[in-house]
Amino acid sequence: MAGASCAGALAAVGWEVEVFDKARAAGGRLSTQRTEPGWATLGTPFISARREPFRSQVRDWVRQGWVVPVRGKVWQGRATVSWGEAQLQNHFRPTIEPSQLVRQLLGAARLHTGLRVASLQPRTIILENGERRGDYDCVICAIPTPQAIPMLDALPLLRERLDEVRYRPIWSFLMRWEGGPAADVIKFDDHLLNLAVRQPFGGPGLWAVYGSHEFTETYLEASAMEASNRAASALMGLLGLAWPVEIEASHLWRHARPHTTVGGFWVSSRESRVALIGDGIAGVGVERAWESGTRLAQALVQAREELLI
Ligand SMILES: Cc1cc2nc3c(=O)[nH]c(=O)nc-3n(C[C@H](O)[C@H](O)[C@H](O)COP(=O)(O)OP(=O)(O)OC[C@H]3O[C@@H](n4cnc5c(N)ncnc54)[C@H](O)[C@@H]3O)c2cc1C
Repeated sequence: MAGASCAGALAAVGWEVEVFDKARAAGGRLSTQRTEPGWATLGTPFISARREPFRSQVRDWVRQGWVVPVRGKVWQGRATVSWGEAQLQNHFRPTIEPSQLVRQLLGAARLHTGLRVASLQPRTIILENGERRGDYDCVICAIPTPQAIPMLDALPLLRERLDEVRYRPIWSFLMRWEGGPAADVIKFDDHLLNLAVRQPFGGPGLWAVYGSHEFTETYLEASAMEASNRAASALMGLLGLAWPVEIEASHLWRHARPHTTVGGFWVSSRESRVALIGDGIAGVGVERAWESGTRLAQALVQAREELLI
């Protein structure tokens, strides 16, 4: 989200922008899994929009029919206590594949997928395959900051500014069950599981289930099978299910959400023309990631205009 919002904003005013993503497609933590009838998400389930100008970006997505406010039945609680209806204010859920939102933001920027950047140098990137791409006006790195640190050996002052940033992990699962509350979203009052979100495709019983940070840190080095089984048995207890839960997929996000960040919208080294954006700099969530990208793009455009005057 951070990289795409920055790249797209620069491309929209005529800059030539190249984007390198190690994954097979754009999306990052908004990426999805293809299922037989459609898609399901093990990443970000919701996009919250609390401030302008992101609210106006989200209003535009609502007009396009790409996101809708979360209005269905949101239940909070656990079976042994009781369920109550909860509100999710300013939360939106994509109706198109969330990665398509990112793809759309990229606009005219040129995307190269399946290319991992190994190191950053002044105005230059070195790809994992050893290829060197240089002479850029600027290089912008939009990845979780702990993953950026090993890429910054040539830029120690920039690297130092990231030292304090810490992320927490999340195990997420696609699970199927029968019974439980007739909800679309379940917020668990529990220390093991955090949230379950009914999926738009794959039949009525397919859910994304999110472990708490505490659960994930306990099973950080466990196999996917062990973590899934633990989560499934916690879920059965919380929902009071009579039948076993089917586990269809799992994913461990090692850098899911930052709990300490640098602050501001970006950090940069002017003389080497390298900047870093993303939620590890600007704060938790899609909204902050988007803001960090657009704010840096605005600052770059303004700086260039001032130089030209
Ligand atoms: C399970 C989960 C649930 C969440 N729930 C919510 C929620 O409900 N609401 C909310 O607002 N936020 C939520 N978040 C957080 C939100 O997803 C992130 O804050 C936001 O997407 C961060 O965007 P980003 O652009 O900073 O980073 P990312 O989305 O991580 O993008 C980084 C990109 O860099 C690429 N990359 C990484 N390393 C390299 C490399 N070496 N070379 C090339 N490419 C590289 C990756 O492939 C990725 O595409 C959740 C996150 C997770 C994991």
